[in-house]
Amino acid sequence: NTHQSSKTAKLAELDKKHFLHPASNPKAVVDNGPAVIFAEGKGVTVTSTDGIEYIDGMSMLWNVNLGHGNQELAEAGNQQLSTLACTSQFKAFSNEPAILLAEKLASLAPGDLNSVFYTSGGSESNDTAIKLARFYWELKGKPAKRKFIALNNAYHGVTVAAQTATGLSAYHHFSGSNIEGVVRATAYLLDSEKGDKNAPNYESSIRATIEREGADTIAGIIIEPVQGAGGVNIPPDGYLQAVRQLCDEFNILFLADEVICGFGRTGKMFGVNNWDVVPDMMSIAKGLTSGYGQLGGVMLNDEIKQTISSFDAVVPHGFTYSGHPTACAIALKNLEIIERDQIIGNVKSMELELKKGLKYLEEKHSIVTNCRAIGLLAAFELYEDPASGKLFDPTVFPANAVVDACFERQLILRALGAHNQIIAIAPPLIINKEEINKMIQIIDEAI
Ligand code: PLP
Repeated sequence: NTHQSSKTAKLAELDKKHFLHPASNPKAVVDNGPAVIFAEGKGVTVTSTDGIEYIDGMSMLWNVNLGHGNQELAEAGNQQLSTLACTSQFKAFSNEPAILLAEKLASLAPGDLNSVFYTSGGSESNDTAIKLARFYWELKGKPAKRKFIALNNAYHGVTVAAQTATGLSAYHHFSGSNIEGVVRATAYLLDSEKGDKNAPNYESSIRATIEREGADTIAGIIIEPVQGAGGVNIPPDGYLQAVRQLCDEFNILFLADEVICGFGRTGKMFGVNNWDVVPDMMSIAKGLTSGYGQLGGVMLNDEIKQTISSFDAVVPHGFTYSGHPTACAIALKNLEIIERDQIIGNVKSMELELKKGLKYLEEKHSIVTNCRAIGLLAAFELYEDPASGKLFDPTVFPANAVVDACFERQLILRALGAHNQIIAIAPPLIINKEEINKMIQIIDEAI
């Protein structure tokens, strides 16, 4: 209606003038205004200020896992906000939700990852993990162990260390502010990591990188159990186990970046659970609060926690919001709902529906290929000729065309990959069969 559209127009003007958007094209925003202004959400849908309802096929940024408008999460936040919204955790101050959440996380995490250092999000978690790993090795009398190995196509965030570890060139090089000491290896060279020196691309493997750099200079390896923003890349079975063995062989810390995978996204509580691997450190964020609070953390195994706990002075690292009581209260409720409502069971059955839908798309459209899903983390790819991997001529079939056509049909998806040829699907974990089928129907029409 006219009231809605004049409100939207006013907001769009203000947005153009004053809002520099994250991970967006600033010129396009100034020229055209925001793509959409969201006003409310319920379940798997969000509605714009114009009253258009979209299916949120990406859980926004792979994080709104319990969906929008969850009143229990709102109430948990509201209760804590009106009791004690914010405290300091510096100098050993503490608060009840942060303590109870730390205990809950220890009970859910694999192996002896029994402690958490809180942050406000995924990037801060990865920077924190890198710093704590270096600190750990200093305390162990091995200060030369400082480097981190990170993989091609990894996405670890945008703070300086996390950005350096990110293996997507645009992010990796942005503003030239990389730290020293991140070395890169190629993802998923399974045979090489197992020790086969004749395997193809051996030189780009983690194993060869360790041999070249010297294990005594390497603090850790950072890996997403399933790469997200790099294209939804699922490792072959045995890969993460092989990396775990490498870490043991060379005395290197295994840092799992569970920022997307954690809390049910892949059909297990954590991504590493799919391969029964226990990392030494684990970065968490996103699904920890389903996006209702800004919270992340680094989980540490007992050895690292005990070593750091032997240090008898103030550790000069921590964020104002490390252990924010409101964010922690929301996370506690979020984890309670995930268990109570058997959300991970739903993920497993909806994974089957989604795979059926993707198979249908692949069989029907000759340009669709490489469909994959683990839990509700899925993707397919588009090529003019899938057999040869020939990409579309962007003047004929523009990058983003299918994502744009889905958006016109009220489904939010995201294009990934160097040529936007990978279409990611990661809906809220509460999605049902009808909603999955609706998504597939829209993608079908859009293609
Ligand atoms: N690590 C992974 C695997 C991510 O996908 C992301 C965000 O998408 C991050 C880290 C960074 O998290 P944040 O944006 O909360 O800083």
